[in-house]
Amino acid sequence: MNLENKSACYLFRLLKQGKISAIEILKDCKERFQERDHELNAFVATSWKRAEKKAKKIDEIRKTGEEIPPLSGIPVAIKDNVARLRDSLTCCSNFLADFYPGYSATVVERLERAGAIIIGRTNMDEMAMGSTTETSAFFPTRNPHNLHRVPGGSSGGSAAAVGGGIVPLALGSETGGSIRQPASFCGVYGLRPTYGRISRFGLVAYASSLDQVGPFAADLDDLWLVFCQLAGRDERDPTTVAGKKLQRGGENFNPPSLRVALPREYIEKVEDKEIIKRLEQVCGSLEQAGVKIEEVSLIDPAKALAAYSVIATAEASSNLARFDGIRFGPEPDGVHNWEDFIRKSRTEGFGDEVKNRIALGALLLSSAYREDYYDRALMVREVIREELEDLWQRFDLVLSPATPTTAFELGSGREVSLQKYLSDILAIPGSLAGMPAISLPAGLNEDGLPLGLQVMGPKWSEPLLLDFAEFISQITGFGAEVEFRAEGGSRS
Ligand code: GLN
Repeated sequence: MNLENKSACYLFRLLKQGKISAIEILKDCKERFQERDHELNAFVATSWKRAEKKAKKIDEIRKTGEEIPPLSGIPVAIKDNVARLRDSLTCCSNFLADFYPGYSATVVERLERAGAIIIGRTNMDEMAMGSTTETSAFFPTRNPHNLHRVPGGSSGGSAAAVGGGIVPLALGSETGGSIRQPASFCGVYGLRPTYGRISRFGLVAYASSLDQVGPFAADLDDLWLVFCQLAGRDERDPTTVAGKKLQRGGENFNPPSLRVALPREYIEKVEDKEIIKRLEQVCGSLEQAGVKIEEVSLIDPAKALAAYSVIATAEASSNLARFDGIRFGPEPDGVHNWEDFIRKSRTEGFGDEVKNRIALGALLLSSAYREDYYDRALMVREVIREELEDLWQRFDLVLSPATPTTAFELGSGREVSLQKYLSDILAIPGSLAGMPAISLPAGLNEDGLPLGLQVMGPKWSEPLLLDFAEFISQITGFGAEVEFRAEGGSRS
């Protein structure tokens, strides 16, 4: 049986019916990896032996007739900033080149408990700082739609692994755009959950008040399935919340009752005319289906980006203080005191992007600047949050493009370029406010590059975001560019 590009839900069904084995699914996945990853460079490490052991175990359990959990046998990739016991964890930084964590992240435990088979760790911008995956200390990842383009970042490896058809599901992380932007560049779905929905325990911190783990998928049922396994209260992350509904609308989902806001200031930020045209086309189809769409005015996202740059770097300088060369990192030679030791190990261990952010963050938190920058950024964040909370009194969802451009040329990411920082601009307001948002593929442009849209909703509205994304796919025919489909031809 050809298992190429089959959705996780479909593979699970076949497995449950005994039509295929977990070992066969894994073998197929390994073939795709061997065929494609030497070009994409989406993975920094693989764990085929461990994966095989687990697949065998699942096959044994299934044969006994015992119930198997819903991700059984499904190959999944995880971003290299998520801890897994006995796997290396590098955050694609030389600083952590030899680090093996002594525990697994809650998200990894939950994936494994649900039967998922983790096949490897994906490339990322160093310490999740970047938008191209080129600040990785190891190598850049390439976009599956065009090998001369970036996959986006910082979760570029995960987006490319799904977009390139190697795995149906992958985990990424977002501080300000690192799931949605690469999902959009690689033509797949990416979900940033509500802050507090999914545990951050075992995720290496960048900016803790913003960081979230979230999934990539090529199929919305798959995205929902993995999201449900990950969501929920975790004692080890006190910001997680219990008991929020995980229920899709089903028959009660009624598109004509939806009020959708289209923020003018977001659309003005879009440079690529084809993205605007695609948005208009999708809006036209939605209106025809009875959805009410209204243009609104919201705070300029450039202001959100400015506040984000201050808050994220300030928190990063504090979080990354633990990388001192003593507990982790390269041991420098020829040093005579602690200060030298720390300075030298940080100088050797971190790349320029990370150093710049630590330095900037430390400066912004110093007594001379704190009030003018950090405190004011927190105020801007609060105003943005209040504005969005107000908006939910009148609207159910916000629709916009996901990014101002399509994937840019490979090679630009190691320079400090404004375009790189601006590529997250439409994702940032939601991040600051802790609201969930989904990035959804909306076809290709004339050069064959994916175009992406974004839907944001109030806290805990992930079920509605997925219902709406599915509805858009149904009425427009747009979906992930690599089809992980149920059966030949039709998406499901
Ligand atoms: N590109 C943004 C940054 O570098 C977002 C990173 C992220 O979400 N992890 O800060």
